[in-house]
Amino acid sequence: MPEKTFTRTLVTAALPYANGPIHIGHLAGAYLPADLYCRYRRLTGDDLVFVCGSDEMGVAILMRALAEGTTPRAIVDRYHPMIEASFRAFGMSFDYYGRTTSPTHAETSQDFFRRLAEQDLFKLKTEEQLFDPEAGIFLADRFVRGTCPVCGYEEAYGDQCERCGSSLSPTELINPRSALTQATPVLRETTHWYLPLGDFQPRLEAWIGTHPEWKPNVLGQIKSWLNDGLKDRAITRDVPWGVPVPEDVAEARGVDVQGKVIYVWFDAPIGYISATKEWAARQGDPERWKRYWRDEQTRLIHFIGKDNIVFHCLMFPAMLMGYGGFVLPENVPANEFLNIEGQKLSTSRNWAVWLHEYLEDFPPDLLRYALATTLPETKDADFSWKDFQTRVNSELADILGNFVNRTMTFAHRFFDGKVPALTEPSEADREVLAQLAGFPERIGASYDQFRFREAVFETMNLARLGNKYFNDTEPWHTRKTNPQACANTIHVCLQLCAALGILMEPVVPFAAGRLRAMLNLTGVRSSLPGEAEAHALGWADAGRPLLEVGHALGEAEILFSKIDDDVIEAQIARLRGSAPTSAPEDEPAAPYEPLRDTITFEEFARLDLRVGRVTAAEPVPKSKKLLRLEVDLGFEQRQVLAGVAQHLTPDELLGKQVVIVANLAPRTMMGLESQGMLLMAEDRDGRLAPLTADAEPGAVVR
Ligand SMILES: [Zn+2]
Repeated sequence: MPEKTFTRTLVTAALPYANGPIHIGHLAGAYLPADLYCRYRRLTGDDLVFVCGSDEMGVAILMRALAEGTTPRAIVDRYHPMIEASFRAFGMSFDYYGRTTSPTHAETSQDFFRRLAEQDLFKLKTEEQLFDPEAGIFLADRFVRGTCPVCGYEEAYGDQCERCGSSLSPTELINPRSALTQATPVLRETTHWYLPLGDFQPRLEAWIGTHPEWKPNVLGQIKSWLNDGLKDRAITRDVPWGVPVPEDVAEARGVDVQGKVIYVWFDAPIGYISATKEWAARQGDPERWKRYWRDEQTRLIHFIGKDNIVFHCLMFPAMLMGYGGFVLPENVPANEFLNIEGQKLSTSRNWAVWLHEYLEDFPPDLLRYALATTLPETKDADFSWKDFQTRVNSELADILGNFVNRTMTFAHRFFDGKVPALTEPSEADREVLAQLAGFPERIGASYDQFRFREAVFETMNLARLGNKYFNDTEPWHTRKTNPQACANTIHVCLQLCAALGILMEPVVPFAAGRLRAMLNLTGVRSSLPGEAEAHALGWADAGRPLLEVGHALGEAEILFSKIDDDVIEAQIARLRGSAPTSAPEDEPAAPYEPLRDTITFEEFARLDLRVGRVTAAEPVPKSKKLLRLEVDLGFEQRQVLAGVAQHLTPDELLGKQVVIVANLAPRTMMGLESQGMLLMAEDRDGRLAPLTADAEPGAVVR
């Protein structure tokens, strides 16, 4: 089969739900790989557009709004800017980041719906569904609650019991009630549109068959869907939040359109098209989106996590085929899941590293690099803070940073901050320059095959090569014994640094920019959106020496600082402290602790509770649980041991005005005497919070 040629590339990254912030599982699944790819392709001079946006429709947003007693609009208006800002700070190089509540998106989704309806590609089905007579709307699965017919749990959802895990349909629930109004729902007929995916199966199979190069984890999932036979999928819902079903289409079929919206899985991928349209309009060329969607010379790549494979590899392609004239994805390099510290990432348990929190403590490049080296490309992978520290300290700082630093130091100290001449190069000098020539193509091939871990490893190998060459040629010796050899070493090392200033750009763009400034290397093509500058230095140029002899270098600075152990310990403590110790996701909350027996006022009055200020807090050596506190009671100092080390860091207690039991008999633990007890509130998930009081130390609590 002749290889297809493409003259431009359109890249999409899965639309994040605007009902919560971004965490590193999202980054590792879709966003970082997409950004690595786009930045690399732009450096090659590719005509590339990278779109994404917030998915603001769907029941998940509505549920969140109901849980918080607010509107879906308020939810998406809160999270969309937050998501966009954290992506920007992380260095995501989108050409356009949209939102699916935009008018363009409603119009585009309705156009798709109408066009497929006109070609009679849908089925209509009428069935009985639960209806809330008080709210006057049909109740989607999650809006019905009742008693599980399997285990008797009284808070089961219409689609699933979260206690026993049984899949349910809303009509199976015993004593069903509306989650909106608590009213007892009634059965009522409703009509919905279905996409009969089975009708598309032969075409989908033929098309998938032309892509044996796709990742095995992606093909495996597709084949299992195809083997089961594709079923009809509902594409409309009766919920009060979403893109409305077009009235003319509903009227033509005699269906009451009131309250009917397009199901989110149908409209969300159309969001990529809407975003491209909005991008084109912003460029002042509203028709330009068509070049990227409706021209065979476009390479369309969808970056997603594995939970989205079926939508991007079967359903959306079927919709595109049905509409006609659209390009189909050339590849869908879906990633598997990222675990954290050996445990499944869970937002409900807060077992997650949140991007906006990470960015308060560290520069974006460190996470970009650490994640890029551990992407779950073919199987689930694990992120740990210790590994993060090792990647930063032993690789970014010790290999890349060290190589740049020693080269710059030599150049400034012994060569007046200028690139020395290469004169009568030795075998070793020539060999390193010859090796350099092969790096851009080799790294590029890994990027083009979506093997990002390999690409980043190979890029770091150039810095490894530089360090080895520096060590082998010993410029600190030759400086005195053979100045020409020393000059040659620094000349070659500076050329390697310049190459790294380009090749490192996709993975650590901020540091690569600083490196180019240190080298005073200008005229390099940007990896950010915009027209590719034809005459600028690009990816392939990194294989040849770029710095002229005598070129004046910029000022040297430290590229990467090492991270201390205590900084990493604090991150681990935050992760463990913020995650409730209770068990698996989706289990109903633990019951409240029962009330104890009644006591008399006299019994209570025997307790002497005092306010104290924590003046010192530190871990107790060899104890996982205890912190040693010094507490100022105003009239005296106490040493108090508190079993909270797995929940709170010393910093979280230091300076707090806490409450202690001041007349408790002293106890000795780990060889230290505890002269009182810190009062803590423990919630049902086992989380601890100290009791605090805005009163002077020594104040009596009663
Ligand atoms: Zn159950």
